[in-house]
Amino acid sequence: MDMLGNLGESLSNSIKKLAGMSVIDKKTVKEVVKDIQRALIQSDVNVKLVFKLSKRIEDRALNEKPPKGITAREYVITIIYEEMVNLLGGSEPAKLEITEKPFKILFLGLQGSGKTTTIGKLCKYLIKKGYNPAVVCTDTWRPAAYEQLRQLTDELDISLYGDPENKDALDLAKKGLEKFKNQRIIIFDTAGRHKQESDLIEEMNKLDNVINPSESILVVDGTIGQIAGEQAKAFSEATDIGSIIISKLDGSGKGGGALSAVAETGAPIKFIGTGEKIDDFEVFDPERFISRLLGMGDIQSLVERAEENIDEDVAQKTMNNMMSGKFTLVDMRNQFDMMNKMGPMQQVMSMIPGLGNKVPKEFTKMTEDKIETFKIIMSSMTQEEMENPKMIKQSRARRIARGSGVEEKDIKELLKYYNNSKRAMKGIGKRGGFGGGNINRIINQMRR
Ligand code: GDP
Repeated sequence: MDMLGNLGESLSNSIKKLAGMSVIDKKTVKEVVKDIQRALIQSDVNVKLVFKLSKRIEDRALNEKPPKGITAREYVITIIYEEMVNLLGGSEPAKLEITEKPFKILFLGLQGSGKTTTIGKLCKYLIKKGYNPAVVCTDTWRPAAYEQLRQLTDELDISLYGDPENKDALDLAKKGLEKFKNQRIIIFDTAGRHKQESDLIEEMNKLDNVINPSESILVVDGTIGQIAGEQAKAFSEATDIGSIIISKLDGSGKGGGALSAVAETGAPIKFIGTGEKIDDFEVFDPERFISRLLGMGDIQSLVERAEENIDEDVAQKTMNNMMSGKFTLVDMRNQFDMMNKMGPMQQVMSMIPGLGNKVPKEFTKMTEDKIETFKIIMSSMTQEEMENPKMIKQSRARRIARGSGVEEKDIKELLKYYNNSKRAMKGIGKRGGFGGGNINRIINQMRR
């Protein structure tokens, strides 16, 4: 998907450029920061914000020492990633939490912002979570609003209350509230236009009083760029804005401006709209969003799974050995331990950027039982044998089999698996776009 127009492409290009450089000095850092500045300003990010961000990146890149195990170049990439995440509101995603019953959501937004479409998207999202939301139409201004909602709710097979004949928004809200009082979630659509802006704001205030919403959500159009920030501010001064959904981020050249400007107002962005279809909708998570934008793969889910679960030093050493071809049985045993903690190796590896579906098929065939047997066998080996499996010939195999209570053919099978894995890992390490460096970066991310 062409998210945010060219922004993702130009940013990931500067990251790639950085990754290809052998020395990181002042000049290189300044050059990369310039690239990033250019890309962000083109995406309508506020110039002041851009300079603040680039100054932070530059200062940190030139003054901070990379933690052990990662190179200066990788550290600069990490800094860029972190600062971009901060630009979009930080690492803690804002979540929609359905608390009181009924949970009443008041939808606000100017006409054309994508409000009605977004209500449909949110309903679908909630249905997938097991809720059965009901919708109330209080838009008495736009004749087609009720009809549009009726189609949406019919498709989703959920209840709608509205009355195109009734021109009293407050009355509609009260009746809807009464009708759906036993419902878990009620969503109120409101008008996005009035003769005068002050009338609109006044109506929003009155609706707010009558409905007493659990959450009010403002929909802003991402294509308007940094003006989205001003709009968010204006609405939140007039009514109590709980959170924001930014629509139309697909292919919008100004989406970066909209996101950063809204984030700067402090209003939490909870979802984004990424297309006209009902499923073009996602929970907004700055870390995930930025790693995707920078072309870093879904590092975040890998980090989540790895956190707390993994002994970093062992993991790093094992990964490094795996990639460089210096893969011993000690590494294989560590790998098995990691698998227990993080899930199947195949799944873990598929989340590593650039690796995707190139996961060796050796990993897909391993069963839990087999891994257990292999671990028992390895516990009967000497340290020397573990580090240099080539020395395991027939007489040693016989001794190990006897010691671990298995047959000699099981030892052969283990050695065969080991050799295949070693070969496969070496292949991955050599292939383009994926060296030990990336692994270091991922491990470093896991660490935090
Ligand atoms: P409302 O007046 O605020 O209720 O806006 P609508 O829901 O009627 O949407 C206005 C237009 O924006 C429609 O043509 C929608 O298809 C379109 N739209 C809404 N959300 C998105 C989005 O995330 N991406 C794109 N490309 N179009 C969208």
